[in-house]
Amino acid sequence: MPYQIDLTGRHALVTGGTRGIGLACCRLLGEAGASVVIAGRAVAEGEAAARALADDGITARFVSLNVLSESAIVEVVGEMAAATGIDILVNSAGIARHRDTLDVDASLWNDLVDTNFRGTFFCCREALRHMAPRGQGSIVNIGSISAQIANIPQNQAVYNASKAAVHMLTKSLASEFAAQGVRVNAVSPGYILTDMTRGGLENAEWAKVWLDMTPMRRVGRPEEVAQAVLFLASNASSYMTGEILTIDGGYTLR
Ligand code: NDP
Repeated sequence: MPYQIDLTGRHALVTGGTRGIGLACCRLLGEAGASVVIAGRAVAEGEAAARALADDGITARFVSLNVLSESAIVEVVGEMAAATGIDILVNSAGIARHRDTLDVDASLWNDLVDTNFRGTFFCCREALRHMAPRGQGSIVNIGSISAQIANIPQNQAVYNASKAAVHMLTKSLASEFAAQGVRVNAVSPGYILTDMTRGGLENAEWAKVWLDMTPMRRVGRPEEVAQAVLFLASNASSYMTGEILTIDGGYTLR
C-alpha cells in the first residue's frame, strides 16, 4: 500500500487558524486536498490568511469565531455541518499566560481555562454531534508538553493544567466515540516559534533554559507540528485514537 495522504473531498475546520500552528495546519491540510475553514477572532488576519491560501490553489474561507462563546461555536459548527459536512476538526485556538501562582486571579484563570479547555470541549462536542451520526470524522487537539512537565523558568501552573485537561479530554472522547467511527487524537508540542513564544525567546535567560532543555537545541517550526496533525487527521492514522503525539525536539526525554 503506497504511503499517500489525500484529503480530496474532505472538509476541515481549524480553530485558531489565523496564525501560528493553526495556520500551518490549514495550509498543510489544504495542500493535501481538503477544503479549509479558518476560524478565529482577528477578522483582517483571518481573511488575509484565507486569501493567501486561495492564491496557492487551496479552497479556504475565514469565519469569525471566539471559542469563549458556546453559542458562537454551536452556530459556526452547525452552519459548516449543514453546508459541507465536517470531516476534520483541529482545535488550535489557545492562549498562554505566565504568572506566579500567588499572583493568579480569577480573570487569568478564566481566560486560560475557558479558551484552552472549555473552548476545545465545546468545539469537540458540536463537531461530534455531527460526526458521530455520520460514522466518520477525525479530531486533532493541540495539547502541549506543558501537560506532562512543569515548564521552567517561567511559572504557568494554570496553562499547564489547562493543557493536561485537553489531553485527558482527548482520551475520554476517543474512548466514547471510537465505536461510532470518530477518532480523537492530540499533538503535544514543545517550544514552537509563534507569536505565543516570541516574547519568551527574546528573553535571553528564558531562551537559554528552553534550548538547554531541548536535546535538539532548537525550537520547532509550526509546519513541524502541522505534519503530525495532518497524519492524525488523515486515514494514514486509521487505527489510532486517543493518542497524544509528542513533537518536542526531545524535551520530554529528560
Ligand atoms: P498563536 O498565538 O500564534 O495562535 C493562537 C491562535 O489561537 C490564534 O489563531 C488566535 O486567533 C487563536 N485564539 C486565541 N484565543 C481565541 C479565542 N478566544 N477564540 C478563537 N481563537 C482564539 O499561538 P500558537 O500557534 O503557538 O498556539 C496554537 C496552539 O498550540 C495553542 O493551543 C497553544 O497552547 C498550543 N501550543 C503552542 C506551543 C508553542 O510553543 N507555540 C507549544 C505547545 C502548544 P485570533 O487571535 O484571531 O483569535
